[in-house]
Amino acid sequence: MSRFWSQLVHQLTPYVPGEQPKIDQLVKLNTNENPYPPSPKAIAAIQAAVGDGLRLYPDPNADALKQTLAQYHGVTADMVFVGNGSDEVLAHVFQALLKQERPICFPDITYSFYPVYCGLYQIDYQTVPLAADFSLHVADYPQDCGGIIFPNPNAPTGRLLALDQVRTMLSQHPNCVVVVDEAYVDFGGESAIELVSEFENLLVVQTLSKSRSLAELRVGFAIGQVPLIEALERIKNSFNSYPLDRLAIAGAVAAYEDEPYFQATRRWVMDERARVVDAMQAMGFDVLPSAANFVFATHPRFEAVQLAAELRAEKVIVRHFKLPRIDNYLRITIGDAAQNDRLLAVLVELTS
Ligand code: PMP
Repeated sequence: MSRFWSQLVHQLTPYVPGEQPKIDQLVKLNTNENPYPPSPKAIAAIQAAVGDGLRLYPDPNADALKQTLAQYHGVTADMVFVGNGSDEVLAHVFQALLKQERPICFPDITYSFYPVYCGLYQIDYQTVPLAADFSLHVADYPQDCGGIIFPNPNAPTGRLLALDQVRTMLSQHPNCVVVVDEAYVDFGGESAIELVSEFENLLVVQTLSKSRSLAELRVGFAIGQVPLIEALERIKNSFNSYPLDRLAIAGAVAAYEDEPYFQATRRWVMDERARVVDAMQAMGFDVLPSAANFVFATHPRFEAVQLAAELRAEKVIVRHFKLPRIDNYLRITIGDAAQNDRLLAVLVELTS
């Protein structure tokens, strides 16, 4: 605390990211990173972008990337907004579209950055409880809310809301923006991007951090109709002209140009997920159905916080949230085969 702080700074409760420990031979399953490396084509493109050109500012509009994303997703480039990770995109979304007269709504169990952005931008919100099985029920969202945001699949539960339910949410709330945060959609979900031309109130946010293995490059994007994108551009151009550097733009473009690699790696993650779920169920864990690159699980006989500590002692790091309703759950990122083998071997020891 300091007398030099603004009033706002005094009030903030910042987000706490999952730790990035510097421990050798760690099995790191705590921040939903992809266990497989980025496409070799993305790495080559980033390397090729390193050079004298770094003395220049990047393209403020990242046109090459917008064009690539537009083409990939079957929209026009003016329907694409890009930012420094989807966290930055989401921050602009809160300020540009979700700061309204009436409180916005999101699930009680969800990405814990949402209430942080509400604090930063002084946005009123109301949480809507998920059902007992952590599924999201569209009918629970009040008609008069100022906007709606939810991840699909949800985090940290991994549960998917079917696309027809997303459609129902959009048609039942024509007067507010509905933001679908699809950070994990490539691991088993159906993207709502196909609904964008039909619904002027829909904004879909995605990231290259998970299914494209580029968390460190910090690239995220939003797709929606032009007026929503324009609102985001107005905020961005009042904040930072150059959120993406030339390395990020080059790597992101190349990642989208390597479809076979993308398909293969996401398939590996999904296959490994099926194996991890089966093995954990055999140990007595209740594992929620997951459409993401992580599983959310609880054990009737062992406390989650204790299991997390014991895993850690064996150099396996998973995420535990000390939050109501989920404090007996672990969120475990799907690793590669060797990491998952290690996880499962330690869990067998701990639960037998
Ligand atoms: N949305 C959700 C639901 C997430 O879990 C994450 C990752 N923490 C993000 C957005 C942000 O990802 P990034 O900023 O790396 O794109």
